[in-house]
Amino acid sequence: MSKAKTYSATLIPGDGIGPEVTDAALEILAAAGVSFSWDRQEAGADIIPRFGTPLPESVVNSIVKNHIALKGPIGTPVGGGFPSVNVALRKRLGLYANVRPAKSIPGVKTPFPGIDIVVIRENSEDLYAGIEHVVVPGVVESLKIITEQASTRIAKFAFEYARSHGRKKVSAVHKANIMKLSDGLFLDCCRRVARDYSEIEYQEVIVDNCCMQLVTRPQQFDVMVMENLYGDIISDLVSGLVGGLGVTGSANIGVDAIVYEAVHGTAPDIAGKGLANPTAVVMSSVLMLRQLGELEAADRIEKALFTVFEEGKHVTKDLGGSAGTAEFVKAVIGGL
Ligand code: NAD
Repeated sequence: MSKAKTYSATLIPGDGIGPEVTDAALEILAAAGVSFSWDRQEAGADIIPRFGTPLPESVVNSIVKNHIALKGPIGTPVGGGFPSVNVALRKRLGLYANVRPAKSIPGVKTPFPGIDIVVIRENSEDLYAGIEHVVVPGVVESLKIITEQASTRIAKFAFEYARSHGRKKVSAVHKANIMKLSDGLFLDCCRRVARDYSEIEYQEVIVDNCCMQLVTRPQQFDVMVMENLYGDIISDLVSGLVGGLGVTGSANIGVDAIVYEAVHGTAPDIAGKGLANPTAVVMSSVLMLRQLGELEAADRIEKALFTVFEEGKHVTKDLGGSAGTAEFVKAVIGGL
């Protein structure tokens, strides 16, 4: 069991099912014996009428102070208005790397057994930065900025991740055959970094072929590194291989701060009904525990989760069961 240490961390419950799934994760963390002092901060669309912004300064300040945050999903209004809180947090805190591990879960049936992939996505630039303008009415320009600095940084991150986690291969995903300058620069940076990691196999895959390979022979992939927009898409695809966004955790990593978050959205259709599957936030908490060195508690939570899936008696509706959030959480805690 864990020691008396108490970790300070920021909690952003978020919108929709966010408070339900983050409360569930906190309950499981507490039952696993890891002590946290949570600084609960509000962010998201719901608070705009009160704060005039979806991201008050107090949220950023809290994460800067604690260095670690656990975040539920936050709704982003489509179209005009306020920018995405998720993107704003990444920018403000310099969270340059998104890490999304996807591992087959016993008991969660998918057509793709034996998956163990980690997608590492550059989080700060590319088309995803949303630098767009109207050239003349009816013509819009969207700028894809790729820099040597950010590409080298994410490539180093991916290879260091592979080395420190005993991984064997890094695949760089690109479209340099068409975007010769931008994706070409990204690839050059990956190649240069790869030379310093001779024990790790380095491979390059064109993004469209990569999608096809992922749904025909996904077991060939280990660590994958890519620019922001490809990462946005491929990381969801890879989550789908192991059961969907409801079961994969994620971390947004910067030099001084890490935000662990659920990758699914606010699920407005089931919010407040006690039906949400909290696994994604719980898996994000497991990543957080591993980063904090609480390896035993992390393994225990993951094992208890997997046992609940394997038994199949207390799984939530999105995974074909009939349990609500509370019943699922009780079953996980019972297995700790
Ligand atoms: P969504 O993920 O909220 O929902 C898609 C479907 O999956 C729905 O049927 C929903 O009920 C189901 N679902 C999602 N998470 C679930 C869970 N934990 N348990 C059970 N079922 C779950 O996607 P959407 O409808 O496209 O987006 C809704 C809102 O969420 C939008 O405002 C969007 O901007 C926001 N969003 C936020 C994040 C984030 O904060 N990281 C990510 C994606 C979308």
